[in-house]
Amino acid sequence: MFHYDNFKLTLFCTAQNMMRVTEEQLQKQLEFYRRYVGCDKVYIEPYRDGETIPEEQLALVIKFFKDNGIEVSGALTTTCNNLTDGDKDKYRMSGTYCYVNKEMRAHLVKTVEYTARHFDEFILDDWFFTMCTCDECRAAKGSRSWEEFRLDLMAEVSENLIIKPAKAVNPNVKVIVKYPNWSEAYQESGYNPAVQRNIFDKIYTGTETRDTAKNDQHLPRYMSYSLVRLMENYAPGRNGGTWFDPYGCNPIEIFAEQAYLSALARGRELTMFNWGDLYRNRVVTPLGLQLAQIDEFLSKAGTPVGTPTYLPPDAQGEDHLEDFLGMAGIPLELVPDFPKDAKSLLLTVQAHKDAGIVAKLTDYVKNGGRAIVTSGFITEALKNGDGIEELTSIRYRGRRFRTNLFRGGGIGGGGDARSAHAVTFPLLEHRNNTTWTLAKAVVGEENYPILFSDHYGKGELITLVVPDEYGLIYGLPEVTLNAFREQFVGDVPYSLTGPGQTSIFAYDNDTFSVYSYIGGLAGGGYGIRVDGRADSIENLTNGMKLFPAPSGMFGGGDVTNFSFFMLSPGDLNFYKINWNEQRHAPKAEFQAMSAPH
Ligand SMILES: [Zn+2]
Repeated sequence: MFHYDNFKLTLFCTAQNMMRVTEEQLQKQLEFYRRYVGCDKVYIEPYRDGETIPEEQLALVIKFFKDNGIEVSGALTTTCNNLTDGDKDKYRMSGTYCYVNKEMRAHLVKTVEYTARHFDEFILDDWFFTMCTCDECRAAKGSRSWEEFRLDLMAEVSENLIIKPAKAVNPNVKVIVKYPNWSEAYQESGYNPAVQRNIFDKIYTGTETRDTAKNDQHLPRYMSYSLVRLMENYAPGRNGGTWFDPYGCNPIEIFAEQAYLSALARGRELTMFNWGDLYRNRVVTPLGLQLAQIDEFLSKAGTPVGTPTYLPPDAQGEDHLEDFLGMAGIPLELVPDFPKDAKSLLLTVQAHKDAGIVAKLTDYVKNGGRAIVTSGFITEALKNGDGIEELTSIRYRGRRFRTNLFRGGGIGGGGDARSAHAVTFPLLEHRNNTTWTLAKAVVGEENYPILFSDHYGKGELITLVVPDEYGLIYGLPEVTLNAFREQFVGDVPYSLTGPGQTSIFAYDNDTFSVYSYIGGLAGGGYGIRVDGRADSIENLTNGMKLFPAPSGMFGGGDVTNFSFFMLSPGDLNFYKINWNEQRHAPKAEFQAMSAPH
């Protein structure tokens, strides 16, 4: 029987799972879960898709779990069948409500009341959104955009049709809103975490990213980690847990990865959807073993850290670029507020949702901050004319280029390296010596920078030029990926070396996990470049120590390089850095090692 110290293992039971089940069947099913993964808590749904569990059966199921020492909460899926003839004309994907229609609003209130009457906590499944464009909705929308209308509508519905009726029948009830993983589409269908975090008692994070290449939603797998962090930063301490399912997860490691990353992000609960579909399903069988190892590591690890990445609420553009960078080996911490006190930060084009972003960025860099911005951020800022020219000589004049040949920065550039596929970039022009090149792409006789540095006041602005094809980011050569990763050592003082499709999950006590994804690239030789002087890296699984690689032409000075053995995709790897007593080289020695520009 599995239990974990750092998270609860939770199963979601749909109304259909529990409607006709007997106590004997439940006992057998529970034994399966206990043998392979554990079961600390269940969410039981009295209603789904027009079916309601009768009170007597609901009481039997609740009693069964409680008698077995399992915590019980409720759940609600906000969908319904057509209620009147007029509903046939409404397009309601999977039965999602038209929240303007009176009958549907009344129906929702009734199911909320039924659920709240039986449970002191319940969670809303992530069908709590709308895409209805019926006559009633268009009339209610008026001249607003769909985004504005639906954000307002769902905030109103949250308050008046969920929280108020629930608390009226059960003053003790706590209500959780679960967010789907498609975070960059929330606003279009009314999901509104910036407002709803203050309406609901808790929020919850969908981590069902599945197989990026095969599904329609364009969700890089790093999201099973990064979205948990974003939601935690929306509502610190009130992000109740994580939620994933087995659909579109082939091979089975793609399902298991969702659990690993949810746990590594310090999700408080790992909820598996759902009881019926996972019973005797082989995808569950490796989880007890693997989660026990993650749990052991988490007991030694601190709080997750990464370069704060500012994604203002309701922003869009460069969709999930930060997650592709996460899968290229850059540890990130997504935040919904401008991280003005952080040592470093990352801005994508989404930061422009904040109208004052360039002024904030200018102050931040002037005062000593290290800001990394994407080409999308820079080109948008140049277009808006909001003063980015104060910080950099970079200009964009509409030219683009395509290449598979890359080189480092400086005069030599450290030799040529090729990516398997040609990649397209915006061509950012700059003025020599005021802006410096850190890495470049080569096209015939010419080369174009894809990584720039500008100094401004006490700080530095790094511009990272991003390929148009995000799916090819992790296929960039190691020399390019390493140059990108080395820019992100402000908050995590070390970076990954080696190919892409591998993530670092970093914690604030120098512990970290390295995870190589299944699919795409088949693993490879990886290492860690420590920004400073480290004596060793300890493998927390077997206690073995790695010692620094010979310094060679890329080491020495104030950097320590470690080479790992090959990392196999899907394996769990946990480490800790042991620093030298003298964590940084004395300044004079360090400068002598740097090449003159
Ligand atoms: Zn409607």
